[in-house]
Amino acid sequence: MRVLIIGAGILGASVAYHLARKGVEVEIIDEEHQGKATLAGAGIVAPWATAVEGQPEWYGLYAAGARYYADLISGLEGLGETNLGYGKVGALVVAEEKGVLDEAEARLLRRIKDAPEAGDVRRISPAEARELFPPLREGMEAIYIPGGARVDARLLSAAMVRAAVAMGATARNDHVTLRLQDGKAVCVGSDGRSIRADEIVVTAGAWAAQILNPLGLTHPVGPQKGQIVHLRLPGVATGKWPCLLPVGSHYMLAFDDSRVVIGATREDNSGFDYRVTAAGEHEVLGAGLALAPGLASATHIETRIGFRPAGSDIKPILGRVPGIGGLTVGNGLGASGLTIGPFAGKCLAELVADGAAPTALDGFGPKGRG
Ligand SMILES: Cc1cc2nc3c(=O)[nH]c(=O)nc-3n(C[C@H](O)[C@H](O)[C@H](O)COP(=O)(O)OP(=O)(O)OC[C@H]3O[C@@H](n4cnc5c(N)ncnc54)[C@H](O)[C@@H]3O)c2cc1C
Repeated sequence: MRVLIIGAGILGASVAYHLARKGVEVEIIDEEHQGKATLAGAGIVAPWATAVEGQPEWYGLYAAGARYYADLISGLEGLGETNLGYGKVGALVVAEEKGVLDEAEARLLRRIKDAPEAGDVRRISPAEARELFPPLREGMEAIYIPGGARVDARLLSAAMVRAAVAMGATARNDHVTLRLQDGKAVCVGSDGRSIRADEIVVTAGAWAAQILNPLGLTHPVGPQKGQIVHLRLPGVATGKWPCLLPVGSHYMLAFDDSRVVIGATREDNSGFDYRVTAAGEHEVLGAGLALAPGLASATHIETRIGFRPAGSDIKPILGRVPGIGGLTVGNGLGASGLTIGPFAGKCLAELVADGAAPTALDGFGPKGRG
């Protein structure tokens, strides 16, 4: 079987990697649009703290995504891919008001009953919180989640593609389109030639509707712009700092190279407006410095822009398209795609290679035409 994957963000990279592990012939085609979400995503993997409630199917997938990370990382390391920017650095939930923190704690304690990987979640004092995340404002009590992690999605997705290629996949850049021929999806390259495939997997992020709508599908996913600020604290060892998750405000996380990241705007109806705006920068830095005044003297390195593939519903769209032969879609990961993406990619690879959808994908299938 020959499988063509359109789009190599975290999701397409994961489908490719898991298919290649199964010995399937894979071709990956990616245009690398400006604003590819995986290149801008923060990288927090701590689903148990989400304030979203009443979405059990979505939350189940989100939590499964975090659980799968241990296997993913060890599988890649086993293939020599060790530079993934992954660290189980923990996470701190903070809130302006004690009542809000109490609520967050009750929610967390309920959820981690089924998630031992979250570790021994506990309340810590403001002094302990500042020991873990020194720029934090004084006087903020926190909930500590030892199992929280962060990942550099640029490194991780590149590693998955590299590993797939090492196992025989091919990867190249191009802009492709789809057309229907005798009820089957056919992929056409920018040179106008069709590309041979038994199965096509569309993992094209916020651009997926541009490929799918011409087939008569109404694909309800579009871009939600995120602006995210990267700072450097010269000479400071930030690599073990936990992710900072304030309830209802902007988060922070840190990487090894004295880098602290503050995210992010969530701009609906943004279109593909690839610009850092004054309001975006102001919003993110304002919230970040209010929470962590110790960052005031940090160097501003860059502001990244990413277009989250945001659906009309929080639930991703993962599965075979009914009524069109050889077409599978993986899309709509929204604001949690770096957590869900690797696991969802593994499930899609099982669906494509084995012909049957794993139960984890129940309820996520795309709609057909008309
Ligand atoms: C600012 C920000 C912060 C985030 N933080 C987090 C976080 O902390 N934790 C978390 O879990 N998630 C986070 N996310 C969400 C996560 O980044 C996204 O959900 C995820 O990266 C989406 O991955 P994807 O593979 O679906 O799409 P993308 O990464 O956007 O990849 C899609 C690819 O498809 C290609 N493509 C599209 N059309 C075509 C075509 N016609 N031909 C060829 N190629 C094509 C594009 O060029 C692109 O390279 C964040 C997102 C943003 C923007």
